[in-house]
Amino acid sequence: MGQLALGKAGLLEEFQTLSRPEGQAMRILDTDGTVLRDWQPRPGDRANPEIDRGQLRDLLLGPLDVQWGRGVTEVVPGTRDGVLVRFADGRQETFDLVIGADGAWSRVRPAISSATPHYTGVTSVETSLDDVDARHPDLARLIGDGSVAVYGVNRAVVAQRNSGGHVKVYAQFRAPLDWHTNLDRHLGLNRRAGLDADVDMDAGLDLADVEAVRSSLLTLFDGWAAPVLDLLRHGAAFVHRPLYVLPVSHTWAHVPGVTLLGDAAHLMPPLGVGANLAMLEGAELAESVAAAPGDPDEAVRAFEEQMWARAGRWAKITAAGLERLVSPDPTEALALFDDVQSS
Ligand SMILES: Cc1cc2nc3c(=O)[nH]c(=O)nc-3n(C[C@H](O)[C@H](O)[C@H](O)COP(=O)(O)OP(=O)(O)OC[C@H]3O[C@@H](n4cnc5c(N)ncnc54)[C@H](O)[C@@H]3O)c2cc1C
Repeated sequence: MGQLALGKAGLLEEFQTLSRPEGQAMRILDTDGTVLRDWQPRPGDRANPEIDRGQLRDLLLGPLDVQWGRGVTEVVPGTRDGVLVRFADGRQETFDLVIGADGAWSRVRPAISSATPHYTGVTSVETSLDDVDARHPDLARLIGDGSVAVYGVNRAVVAQRNSGGHVKVYAQFRAPLDWHTNLDRHLGLNRRAGLDADVDMDAGLDLADVEAVRSSLLTLFDGWAAPVLDLLRHGAAFVHRPLYVLPVSHTWAHVPGVTLLGDAAHLMPPLGVGANLAMLEGAELAESVAAAPGDPDEAVRAFEEQMWARAGRWAKITAAGLERLVSPDPTEALALFDDVQSS
């Protein structure tokens, strides 16, 4: 889907120069480090190449005139002059068409929908390694050209190579949203060995305290193979990302002059779809509006119908996928990958 959008924007060639088809490689380990699966892309396979987020953003923005730092606070449809947009700097402007492509916590969405994201029950804590080939050659070999993933009971560790020897590592686990406020109550960590003395379980975990977060993660994944734990041990900083979603099949009654796309319209678990959908929707909306200059609103209506149908299908797939990936039965995660790889 992403490549289709890049093609429409005339950016496919540049994308192919930057993207990494070898990044499609995927290795799955058991928690004891045994290699369970090791998929390598076939020569010439460009179905799902990887690209760094920053590179993709620069590619898409190109020569566009972006007004950075102009946060939108509110959108009011139906005023005499069109759709009113209020900005954080106190200014306001009216427009014929406002497209809310402003992500999970969209400020445009309340103008047309009362839906708000809810927590999935799965939290991700993200860290990263730099210069992995020189600094951690064993881990570099473990990760290979693409990703390595390890699935345990209600938890997982996933590491993905980016360009330039940078690796993103995600520790994922089922936990209440406030898991960090009392590690013993929510995660039962005091029943495990190895939590450093600087983590006070009753006082909770300070998510800004890098060493305390590292220590609690190492305890949470206690007993997993040493190289897997090393991915967390060498992480530079930790970003807390509880996973939120919008209701599956989120739709709204059409409001003239305002629409949504991407996460603002259909936030779903991060299983490799969200950015692709957002890009394709952007391209399709642009095409529809350009093709119907006389009646852009009708074009937006048709776009919404198409987006809802496709995004609804993916929201169901990714919701079911998250249930299987971070699940009480780790064989479910393996079975999911077997299904995806065989298709
Ligand atoms: C860990 C992780 C891994 C992922 N991996 C993948 C993957 O491999 N493939 C994939 O397809 N998807 C992936 N996703 C999902 C993907 O990141 C999102 O679906 C995608 O970024 C959505 O794009 P968007 O443009 O709708 O929203 P965003 O990327 O969130 O962009 C919204 C933009 O709006 C701006 N904004 C927000 N509020 C305001 C405001 N009030 N005023 C003005 N501007 C505002 C923000 O600054 C931002 O620039 C992943 C997500 C996560 C968290």
